[in-house]
Amino acid sequence: MSYDRTSPSWIKAKMNIKQLRFQKQLGQNFLIDGNVVENILSALELETSDTVVEIGPGLGSLTERLVERVDRLIAVEIDRHLARELEMDFPEVEVMPADILKLDPVQFPEGCKIVGNLPYYITSAIIMHILESDLKFDRLVIMMQKEVAERISASAGSKTYGVLSVITQLYCDVELLFHVSSQCYMPAPRVDSAVVRLTPKPFREKQLIPVVKAAFSSRRKTIQNSLRNIYSSGRVARALEQAGIHPVRRAETLSLEEFIALGEAFNESDN
Ligand code: SAM
Repeated sequence: MSYDRTSPSWIKAKMNIKQLRFQKQLGQNFLIDGNVVENILSALELETSDTVVEIGPGLGSLTERLVERVDRLIAVEIDRHLARELEMDFPEVEVMPADILKLDPVQFPEGCKIVGNLPYYITSAIIMHILESDLKFDRLVIMMQKEVAERISASAGSKTYGVLSVITQLYCDVELLFHVSSQCYMPAPRVDSAVVRLTPKPFREKQLIPVVKAAFSSRRKTIQNSLRNIYSSGRVARALEQAGIHPVRRAETLSLEEFIALGEAFNESDN
């Protein structure tokens, strides 16, 4: 028998019968809008032969619909009580009772699609964790706090343009697909959400990541001084000159192309 896991009465009954508690510290806000679930799934453009990795399945609102549509579903859930329920309810799903941040994403199958209604408190960390890994994924469709979605999509020069925007846009095409009201969750969080799709670009030069992090390490400082937190003064001067970037500019004014040029310059320069 199948249930509608986005129904508030089903969620309440399940929590009561199984004596489960909403773990606020784990960002447990469950989706109660079936249309939102369908819109997330259509953004994945699923084919039966797909392998999907779901992060934070919770009580299974996405899981129950995913499992019918793909050959292989891997679900990573940190809450052991919820993971146990999922294992019992969906024997065909490979449930991993684990913290996604403690797993190396490269263990997931190449070409997998990743989906998740992510816990707000670690959304940025999860995105960085996946992008910094060597996993070759097909796409990532994630629901997150609206402000994080805006940070990811921010352009150079805007206040929210930072490490997350640069790294995400360097490695992926970013699409902010739609907004989701806080009323679509139980319990309702204080913030609204948005769904973002990340599709990897061919560009995979991972050695750029430490340069971008160093560039933003002191937001109020010039790029020259921020980079000196990590690299020697001589190396910084040579790299900036080679990349054609004025030393007194600030990291948030640099375009993606300038970050790529800077990364190449650091790569070529010696210590
Ligand atoms: N997918 C469900 C839904 O949409 O109703 C639940 C989404 S809820 C916002 C986030 C889920 O992520 C919770 O089930 C929570 O226990 C789980 N979670 C939190 N931190 C996690 C982590 N580090 N690794 C894996 N799962 C995590």
